[in-house]
Amino acid sequence: MSFEGDIYKQSVYREPAPIRDHDNPFQSMVERFDIAAKILELDPGFYEYLVTPSRVHITAIPVTMDDGRIKVFEGYRVIHNEVLGPSKGGIRYAPDVNLDEVKALAAWMTWKCAVVNVPFGGAKGGIICNPRDMSPGEIERMTRRYTANMMDVFGPERDIPAPDMNTNEQTMAWIMDTYSMHVHRTENAVVTGKPILLGGSHGRREATGRGVMTCTLAAMERLGMRPAQSTVAVQGFGNVGSIAAQLLAEQGARIVAVSDVSGGYYNPNGLDVTAMMEYAESHGRSLEGYPNAEPVTNEELLTLDVDVLVPAAKEDQITARNADKIKAKIIAEGANGPTTPKADDILRSNGALVIPDILANAGGVTVSYFEWVQDRQGYFWTLDRVNRRLDRLMRNAFNHVYETADQHDVTMRIGAYVLAVQKVAYALRMRGIYA
Ligand code: NAD
Repeated sequence: MSFEGDIYKQSVYREPAPIRDHDNPFQSMVERFDIAAKILELDPGFYEYLVTPSRVHITAIPVTMDDGRIKVFEGYRVIHNEVLGPSKGGIRYAPDVNLDEVKALAAWMTWKCAVVNVPFGGAKGGIICNPRDMSPGEIERMTRRYTANMMDVFGPERDIPAPDMNTNEQTMAWIMDTYSMHVHRTENAVVTGKPILLGGSHGRREATGRGVMTCTLAAMERLGMRPAQSTVAVQGFGNVGSIAAQLLAEQGARIVAVSDVSGGYYNPNGLDVTAMMEYAESHGRSLEGYPNAEPVTNEELLTLDVDVLVPAAKEDQITARNADKIKAKIIAEGANGPTTPKADDILRSNGALVIPDILANAGGVTVSYFEWVQDRQGYFWTLDRVNRRLDRLMRNAFNHVYETADQHDVTMRIGAYVLAVQKVAYALRMRGIYA
């Protein structure tokens, strides 16, 4: 039979057409993965296996809108890899969700779980929608139908979603309830980031920002910097950015600028982060109109003369266009993929220490893992226990990445990839390829 050759030729996953012509997040992931693969002298077959998403699900989600019209949304779930365990990853709702982005985010989850040593593979999901223009009822119906369409994908032993941009505890509760209705029992381990009463974990909501803080402190120690003498700018004031800002302020750092979609807010004497969180909470989760600060643009915020910069909004914020203007000594990536590969090179030559996303924002998935463990045991931990275990895992991961980077004389980002790819490749070798 002659078709065998063709099958093998097509075995590397390729998109039918490029989705974006600028820095594509999946390509950004592959560029870093390539460097790690070279350092590790990864077998070409393993390379192909590890770069290829294991499953890509695309689903149409019909929703009856409040005015009676039916609107069909497009939803995705990409399972990148399941070698270390069931896949895990957030779901985002946004108008610019696209398959390339979801694929990149799914792959980052694989590496992130490996970096912090939690027994999960990587996945990510998303729906193209504008939740700001939708009523809670419309969002609930869309979430429930997406979950129903994904019944064969999700599961506590298969694939476990979590919140991401524009999804939250409520979204997770709807997913858990819909899944539970289908399996005829309450199955709370199917999602993480749930409300505490439904099997959520103490500390999960703050976990990503807390991990950013822990990594930033660890980096400061390495560089001989003191939190109380440091200034910080944070891009993005949602779950990750606001908590990271608040916890760094608690450590004595001066938060001089934060931003959200409404723009940037600057005060050289230090912003009152808690007051800003309260303001955002009572103004539709927006800082628009916040009084005690000077306005700056998001672009200006990134290039302020600060010690620490925390990009905690979205991808592709630090690029070849602005990287040489960045003055921060430490860049702690709260967001996924905020720095492009070209910007990485510029930042490195300027001496900035970048704590890469797959390490810096791994606190969320770490406490998600704790939540899943607690749900499966039916035994729930105190906040103190969660935070102590999180801090320990994040510190260990930071040190491991820092030392790997040092050993290979590469950036912490490449160090993190080397560590992660090595672990997943080892697990794959031990498991072998199922015939
Ligand atoms: P969120 O929706 O709570 O907050 C996002 C924030 O970014 C909002 O304040 C929004 O106004 C702001 N923003 C959006 N576009 C912006 C722009 N162009 N300039 C400035 N600000 C902008 O989302 P989140 O959960 O905080 O996630 C933020 C990032 O962190 C995402 O990249 C996400 O993938 C990543 N992340 C989140 C978690 C988590 O546990 N929530 C875990 C790991 C990584």
